[in-house]
Amino acid sequence: MTAPRFKRILLKLSGEVLMGQGQFGIDPETCERVALEVKAAKESGLEICMVVGGGNIFRGLAGAAQGIDRASADYMGMLATVMNALAMQNALEKVGVDTRVQSAIPMASVCEPYIRRRAERHMEKGRVVLFAAGTGLPFFTTDTTAALRAAEMQCDALFKGTSVDGVYDADPKKVPTAKRYDTLSFNRVLADNLKVMDASAVALCRDNNIPIVVFNIRDAGNLTKVLVGEGTSTIVQN
Ligand code: UDP
Repeated sequence: MTAPRFKRILLKLSGEVLMGQGQFGIDPETCERVALEVKAAKESGLEICMVVGGGNIFRGLAGAAQGIDRASADYMGMLATVMNALAMQNALEKVGVDTRVQSAIPMASVCEPYIRRRAERHMEKGRVVLFAAGTGLPFFTTDTTAALRAAEMQCDALFKGTSVDGVYDADPKKVPTAKRYDTLSFNRVLADNLKVMDASAVALCRDNNIPIVVFNIRDAGNLTKVLVGEGTSTIVQN
């Protein structure tokens, strides 16, 4: 693998990525494939931390729509992200990658609490740190968590793995002529309300000068490619 462009990155995966071809839950084969790609990236010298969403299990908004109090529903969503982080941790350790899970909601018998300086130390030792339970606060998302942790961990870039290969001027699944952007400014994303990450996450990355690389993680091998500046992606930057 060619040398990566960055030294330290945060990889954000939406919970849906972990479903694989399924409609719900966690697909072990998909976790293993992602784990192998993270391993390859690590072996090229990259420091990696991760945030995994929870949408494959539970979303606060969906719970609220069914009558659950929104804050309670969001806590349920945050707990879902802990399950995903444990699944990814397991997949990574199976392929020989050292990891630690840190949760924003302390749960001492399951994983470490989130302690920035300790996370920093893990990364220096070559471990992949998985940040679970979002920010620990309701009414936020794991996109915002990813931007926040990327800033705290002084990451050079935030890689957002999705099911499309970048940001388009229209929904490529509905509009066949939709055009993909190679690069975009943060302000354009915010002004045009382009669906990259939620606005608070984009603003946090803009203010801390952390580029967001949007790419398709469902294509096998693509993570490895985009990390070295190959493959297809959209880079959002200042
Ligand atoms: N969540 C939250 N605060 C956070 C992060 C997440 O309340 O800081 C909750 C929220 O209910 C959200 C759910 O956890 O719907 C799962 O996260 P998200 O929807 O961001 O997951 P993704 O779409 O990336 O799978």
